[in-house]
Amino acid sequence: MFPVLIEEAVLQQRVADLATAIQQSGQEAPLHMVAVLEGARCFSEDLCAALGRPSGAYDTIRLASYGAERESSGRVELVEDLKTDVAGASVLIVEDIVDTGRTLAFLLELLRARAPASIRVCTLLSKPSRRIIDVPVDHIGFEIPDLFVIGYGMDLDGRHRDLPYIGTIEQEPTLRDSGSRP
Ligand code: IMP
Ligand code: MG
Repeated sequence: MFPVLIEEAVLQQRVADLATAIQQSGQEAPLHMVAVLEGARCFSEDLCAALGRPSGAYDTIRLASYGAERESSGRVELVEDLKTDVAGASVLIVEDIVDTGRTLAFLLELLRARAPASIRVCTLLSKPSRRIIDVPVDHIGFEIPDLFVIGYGMDLDGRHRDLPYIGTIEQEPTLRDSGSRP
């Protein structure tokens, strides 16, 4: 059991609110959703369902930033490209979390070169204090502090993606200490 940062019900309500905000954003429908795997799978599928009709395209792209465990190296690589052409499309990038901003900056450059009509970004989570590259984000589910989170698609070394809530592996140092005192 991990400390809960965002409960399942709060998460689901926010997804519904984000869908409404996207529908009212003025971006021309139908949307061409680009979900960034693996982390954004759960969120993008729930968001897609919440958006309902008229349905557009849903595609996925797999990116990786290699480096030591929890730190991205700064080198982002394309692991698996989209299967669809985004030229002339209203692209909505769906991310799990924008941390340093490097992954999103890489993806924006990649997709802009393919001449979509528009590109907007929706991320479930953002850690503003960690930003290194100032990337534009149109829709943010929750701004969170600099904590490593898991669940709802997000992992630590491939684990814990299946949690229905968002938890953190970092615990505030407990103030109560049952041990001996000097
Ligand atoms: P960025 O390139 O530093 O913005 O990192 C973006 C990617 O790193 C996210 O899309 C996640 O896949 C991953 N990431 C960053 N922070 C976390 C976290 O707290 N938990 C799980 N994955 C994370
Ligand atoms: Mg991601």
